[in-house]
Amino acid sequence: MTSNRQQADRIALYIHIPFCKARCAYCDFNTYAGLEDDIPDYVLALSQEIERAAQRFGGLRTSTIYFGGGTPSLLSPRQIETILRTVHEHMDTSILREVTLEANPGTVSTNRLLELRSAGIDRLSLGVQSARNCELRLLGRIHTWEDAVNAVAQARQAGFGNLSLDLIFGIPGQTLSQWRTDLNSILSLTPQHLSLYALSLEPGASLQRRVLSGELPLPDDDLTAEMYELSEAVLHEAGFFHYEISNWARCHGDHTGFPMPDLTEASRAVGNAQARTTVISNPPPLISERVSPYISLHNLTYWRNEPWIGMGAGAHSWFDGQRSANLAHPRDYTRAILEKREVVVERETIGPRLEQGETMMMGLRLTEGVSDDRFRHRFGCGLADVFERELNDLSSLGLLYWDGVIARLTDNGRLLGNHVFARFL
Ligand code: SF4
Repeated sequence: MTSNRQQADRIALYIHIPFCKARCAYCDFNTYAGLEDDIPDYVLALSQEIERAAQRFGGLRTSTIYFGGGTPSLLSPRQIETILRTVHEHMDTSILREVTLEANPGTVSTNRLLELRSAGIDRLSLGVQSARNCELRLLGRIHTWEDAVNAVAQARQAGFGNLSLDLIFGIPGQTLSQWRTDLNSILSLTPQHLSLYALSLEPGASLQRRVLSGELPLPDDDLTAEMYELSEAVLHEAGFFHYEISNWARCHGDHTGFPMPDLTEASRAVGNAQARTTVISNPPPLISERVSPYISLHNLTYWRNEPWIGMGAGAHSWFDGQRSANLAHPRDYTRAILEKREVVVERETIGPRLEQGETMMMGLRLTEGVSDDRFRHRFGCGLADVFERELNDLSSLGLLYWDGVIARLTDNGRLLGNHVFARFL
């Protein structure tokens, strides 16, 4: 069997920056406000962990680097440069294709962005979240919509040609027509990539208490689903490829001339009860990164369940058949690294059957789906050998398109993704 453990000739590298200026009302990420004074030591610790990892995983090639958080843009460009220099010095970056940094629009300026470009960042992911200041206040964001518009202009001035914007929908009080207007406002910023997330209320986040107490009623599930479907229609019209449940990449309507994928044949087949048994003999090969140059290559690694290594407080890794997690608090993490102690606090060995299920669960999030060929190449058996009943059941419910070659979610399956994924685990 070929699995994650044998195929790891390359990795994605995630670097966690667990600092924020203030805590947003909906957030339960591993991040901390008011610890900015700890950043210099944290950067030192990160550099040491990268060196350790390079020794441990020697010979691996790093294909993407992603600074996530938290708020990575709280680090100075010089600190980012230090971390990247350490990666280049100790890891094989000969096939490096993408270096992303998440930034909060309230923390950037043209000069900082210019320096980040020179440090090697080539993709910027801006947490815009909403085009309305009342919603930004409700979400506890530190920036306004005007800050976001300025940040996009500054990023363009600094030469960023690959810009991703994050947005949240399903915010208390939000209407469908407001969401339509907001999507158009976002499109006027001409991003290359969009991530749209339904607001989720995490236990412990302050917004959850206000919603649970009835003070802030959420839009109901039907309205949230309508917002999602509206996003699909508006972004398709604007030339975006909906390549993952929550992610869209621009693929035509700009200078690239990349064609939109034609899924209509497949969609028709799964949308029609009679056609569910129809076998489409030759579905188009749909490899996400061939459709648009703006797909998040780093995140593709997660969705294809391929190996990645996480550096920093609370960062997770998935490599060599093992999942592991670092100490979560940045002070515990920094102290342990600087005292040359172990920082991994959880380690789990993933057996082949679980790896197969997770490959389905993650891969079905992608429009390209999971191909029988790739699965066979990796595991030495076909999709139907392992999941025949699940594939047939979900196809007959109209949630999955499965023709013996490719399995992918239907439009209805996208709306009920969690129900589909649970069947494979
Ligand atoms: S900026 Fe991002 S990571 Fe920081 S608190 Fe807000 S949502 Fe969480």
